[in-house]
Amino acid sequence: MKKLVVGNWKMHGSRAFNAELIQGLLASDLATTAPRADVAVCPPFVYLAEVVAALQGSAIGVGSQDVSVQVQGAYTGEVAGPMLREVGATYAIVGHSERRSYHAEGDQLVADKARAALSHGLIPIVCVGETLAEREAGQTEAVVGRQLQAVIDTLGADLARIVVAYEPVWAIGTGKTASPEQAQAVHAFLRAQLKSARAEAATVPLLYGGSVKPDNAAQLFAQPDIDGGLIGGAALKAADFAAIARAA
Ligand code: PEP
Repeated sequence: MKKLVVGNWKMHGSRAFNAELIQGLLASDLATTAPRADVAVCPPFVYLAEVVAALQGSAIGVGSQDVSVQVQGAYTGEVAGPMLREVGATYAIVGHSERRSYHAEGDQLVADKARAALSHGLIPIVCVGETLAEREAGQTEAVVGRQLQAVIDTLGADLARIVVAYEPVWAIGTGKTASPEQAQAVHAFLRAQLKSARAEAATVPLLYGGSVKPDNAAQLFAQPDIDGGLIGGAALKAADFAAIARAA
């Protein structure tokens, strides 16, 4: 399976910063050769159209960091799937831990966002992951299993069309990466859950996210059930992001 490496820019950037970052990405082998991995970046909503335009003709795709469950109407501050498609997004991250914790997004809302993304032609990247307290209490599988089960129950036959990102909350932006073995164990668990729900979902790409850097990417990506990465901090440096994608 071709690996997938996605950069989550979070609430970073400006026109000048983005232009420099994109220039760096376009100058790297990500954009010019047939890359070994599929690659995409997810800028803040307001920059999506500009980033799509700047990356036009390259092999680098673009995604959003969220999507509304609504299609249109009186939903102040929300951005709908058809709008994202119209400006050229192909992926939508849903259920990032920062949205789950700062915006109180629950498992069912995240699952509904995944369904909304699919119904408007976007590939949802569904994030799951446990906190440090949950890991230490031995609840990792129960937590990620519960988060994924809501998506399984909501999507039915469409389950095979998603991407899942395992992002242990304790590893996001902290510099603490899950060891390749820790990540692989959770990925194998998620793979088995997907497969037992729907045989065709066994090939759903499973990304790892949480302090992936150029020096730990290759070991993580070498694990049998790690199909790529969701990259935060290191996606803001063209050379680092390109090196991570190269490791995939
Ligand atoms: C993320 O926010 O999706 C992420 C993985 O961040 P970082 O790589 O900075 O830990």
